[in-house]
Amino acid sequence: MNDDQNYETLDPENWDEMRKLAHRMMDDALDYIQTARERPVWTPVPEEVSAKLTSPAPAGPTPPEEVYEEFRSDILPYNLHTNHPRFWAWYMGSGTVMGALADFFAAVMNPNVGGINHVAPRVEQQVISWITRMMGFPDSASGLLTSGGSMANFTALTVARNSGAGYDARREGVLAAPGPLTVYASTEIHSCNQKAVETLGLGSDGLRKVPVNDDYTIDLDALARQVNSDRESGMVPFCVIATAGTINTGAIDDMNAIADFCERENLWFHVDGAIGAVAVLAENVRGQLSGMERADSIALDLHKWMHIPFEAGCVIVRNAPAHRDSFALVPEYLQREPDGGGMASGSLWFSDYGLQLTRQFRALKVWMSIKEHGLERFGRMIARNVEQAHYLGRLVEAQPSLELTGPVGLDIVCFRYNPGNLAPQPLNDLNKELLVRLQRGGVAAPSYTTLRGHYCLRVAISNHRSRPEDFDLMVREVVRIGNDLVSGTVH
Ligand SMILES: *Cc1c(COP(=O)(O)O)cnc(C)c1O
Repeated sequence: MNDDQNYETLDPENWDEMRKLAHRMMDDALDYIQTARERPVWTPVPEEVSAKLTSPAPAGPTPPEEVYEEFRSDILPYNLHTNHPRFWAWYMGSGTVMGALADFFAAVMNPNVGGINHVAPRVEQQVISWITRMMGFPDSASGLLTSGGSMANFTALTVARNSGAGYDARREGVLAAPGPLTVYASTEIHSCNQKAVETLGLGSDGLRKVPVNDDYTIDLDALARQVNSDRESGMVPFCVIATAGTINTGAIDDMNAIADFCERENLWFHVDGAIGAVAVLAENVRGQLSGMERADSIALDLHKWMHIPFEAGCVIVRNAPAHRDSFALVPEYLQREPDGGGMASGSLWFSDYGLQLTRQFRALKVWMSIKEHGLERFGRMIARNVEQAHYLGRLVEAQPSLELTGPVGLDIVCFRYNPGNLAPQPLNDLNKELLVRLQRGGVAAPSYTTLRGHYCLRVAISNHRSRPEDFDLMVREVVRIGNDLVSGTVH
């Protein structure tokens, strides 16, 4: 009954065959990344594949080789191909090989990094202390790796609320506030912060959106006026969120001015640095981020401009006890033992610093990628993307039928095709159609935004594989499609 052969588990029935398959998968994976440039940057999912993906779960087993074949034919070709050198949509990183291998090994090790006395929390702690130093925070700061910028901002804003409410908000809730608790940011603030403010019980009205200057940075006078008038009408301002690299145009708010303002007004200074915080590594950006090191908390993404495979974000908080006080909750089944004891010993429990108890070993891919490349190389990749954005800006300006629709900020370029004789709405429609054709053609994948009523193509170059000729190619393609659309040669 209990002999090894027949005792059912989820392990391979035939280890030799699984080993062969695993080696093939590894070879295919490396080929996939090495030849990224040769495939279309986007391929829509065919209807027959979509239909297959609605079939019910199988009750019985399928041989592993067959499962893998199905993956190869039905899933892999329709990937969102962020590894491609001309993937510039929304704002994503392009992955690293070591990061992918590390993620595989994190799953092989399969530790739970919520706490407990083992090696993985120490690795996460090391990664956090590297980031803490990168950001110019003191070693006493706390941090947490998160799924991404959204959870990093949510975590920081929770600590900000609990610290700034002026009473025990964790125990009494927002109903006990003497007036509506309010957070301040520019109109260019990323939507995840509004979701966080709503989830924290403050309502979307609790996020006060302040107008921006021509360069899309927050208008500091308007900020001061808003905080003042809100206080006069009984609200309780507790936090200002500065953005280091806005999602639309890569604008960086004036960090020192906001730090001064928060000091004067006794407000929590939070930085949403999902895009730009890691650009402290780049010579040509560092100066613009001056003052960020004065923040009370910073949210940043490692799966954007650091190219760590999804998901990887980080939050750091200057006041570690305030961070812990917002999330630590230790029931009898999670009690800790003194150092030197068994598995429950030690104080490094990351579940005390965020919402999740069970946590994956996402630190490993960050740790291995940073070890492999070193911070300086990451800095050079970031700096080069910024130069490429300016190169693309010059290409756009050199084309009579193209125009920039906003300032080039960090690695983000917004532009549109404009034949010069269309009213605003037809011009927006033309550019929408142009972008769809560009994406479906598989040549390049920008995304889009709308700036001051102008719909435009938006190229976010957080990509370590892009080369100058990739931008030449995209610009030629945009002009060609635009001309075809205007002359009616395509329908
Ligand atoms: C992407 C982004 C976020 C959200 O981060 P996720 O990693 O997608 O959760 C927040 N703020 C800014 C400025 C961003 O660009």
